[in-house]
Amino acid sequence: MRYISTRNSAVQYSAAQAIAQGLAKDGGLLTPFYIPKLPSKALEDLKDMAYQQRAVYIMKMFLEEFSVKELTDFANAAYGPDKFDSPAVAPVRTVDGDIHCLELWHGPTCAFKDMALQMLPHLLTASLTKTEEDKTVCILVATSGDTGKGALEGFRDVPRTKILVFYPKDGVSQVQELQMVTQEGGNVGVAAVVGNFDDAQTGVKRLFSDEAVRQELADKGYFFSSANSINWGRVLPQIVYYISAYCDLIRDERIALGQTVDICVPTGNFGNILAAYYAQEMGLPIGQLVCASNSNNVLTDFLRTGLYDRDRPFHNTISPSMDILISSNLERLLYALTQDTAEVEGYMAQLNENGRYQVSSKVLDKLQKRFKGYFCGDDETKRTIRSVYEEHGYLIDTHTAVAFSALEQYRRETGSDSPAIVASTASPFKFCASVLEALGETGIASGLDALDQLSAKTGQPAPAPLAGLRDKAVRFSQVVEKEHMADAVRSLLG
Ligand SMILES: *Cc1c(COP(=O)(O)O)cnc(C)c1O
Repeated sequence: MRYISTRNSAVQYSAAQAIAQGLAKDGGLLTPFYIPKLPSKALEDLKDMAYQQRAVYIMKMFLEEFSVKELTDFANAAYGPDKFDSPAVAPVRTVDGDIHCLELWHGPTCAFKDMALQMLPHLLTASLTKTEEDKTVCILVATSGDTGKGALEGFRDVPRTKILVFYPKDGVSQVQELQMVTQEGGNVGVAAVVGNFDDAQTGVKRLFSDEAVRQELADKGYFFSSANSINWGRVLPQIVYYISAYCDLIRDERIALGQTVDICVPTGNFGNILAAYYAQEMGLPIGQLVCASNSNNVLTDFLRTGLYDRDRPFHNTISPSMDILISSNLERLLYALTQDTAEVEGYMAQLNENGRYQVSSKVLDKLQKRFKGYFCGDDETKRTIRSVYEEHGYLIDTHTAVAFSALEQYRRETGSDSPAIVASTASPFKFCASVLEALGETGIASGLDALDQLSAKTGQPAPAPLAGLRDKAVRFSQVVEKEHMADAVRSLLG
């Protein structure tokens, strides 16, 4: 399997090169040249396998130069019982007849980012060996909250890696910030950026393409790579859980083999829902892909009109991991739909210059066949948390609630009654203040005491990695202006 840049198909890369490099030199995203199809018996075979084996089977289709033995070792280490508190790894919970929730937050940082970020360090270090890279990789991450912690935890003390995370100073929850600033490990750094997530992400992209900084790093024996979902090694492990969820539903006789299911995903950078699209391309019987947004609803508008326009007010919402106006992974979808790197490059140039682009009617047509977009504001998010809890005794976080609302809107608008899988992307305890408010609590405790309050209210224990934050010391307090992010890199590397 060869990989290309979404902006230029002339240069081809191996999977290991794509993963080691993270981002193409022309600014494009490294992407499989074609999406392989699941063999006809695959779902039946996968049905009786453990999650780890399913991961090996599916990832192997994209990673020719990795052996089954290697991938098996990676999957066992990434998704073992010391990392995930559910033996199913990504269990499916039926909420209401034909609505099934795919719980992606049983890993060490309680958000879905663990599904990929526990795997990425294994893929990346093996890729460095395969590409005979002798420098140490310096991973830069811009985070809207969950990626940062997931990446820190995945890469901590991994040999031949350093990791530096930038988060928007006032754009993450208290629990999220505490998770990051208390991070342990000898190869890690964390800095707050004055600004929002897009500022942090743009700053990281600028560092990547700054020749002077790259040279300075090279002289010290380092090179940059990315753990953001622009890295193919982030997207690939996410395809696995959609196929896995479908297999669970057939195994448990909730659906028949071949029956279509809709998939609804709370979306920010478009990484998670892109993985669902790829699963569909591989042949998984998915009906509609429902793209759920909060009031930063640039994707909802895009899916309705074909105009992507980032020039709009930025809202800080109670689902902060979706507070994004530039959804990087959309570029991979545009390539998949057009198969034309020049067309994609044109759209991205317009986005860069004018903050907007309009896709052709042919592309819009293809988009609308696969995707439906809905959004909801904070009030509706809270109402949804409350009604799902009261009607089904099921506690969901603010991001997952946006998806439940979108699914409800989709079903109302289209009359669809197909079974649906909702991606549940974080533990409700990660956003406990907002969840408590949604449940009607007043006098909400601050910081980690809110974990106890939510436990008392619902009778559910807080996940151990969050409860354990109490005993951790704060290690990082650096705040940088977005123009000075290179200084944070220098201070990490010495
Ligand atoms: C990152 C994140 C999202 C958005 O996922 P994308 O892949 O960026 O679309 C949604 N919910 C939670 C809890 C997240 O951490």
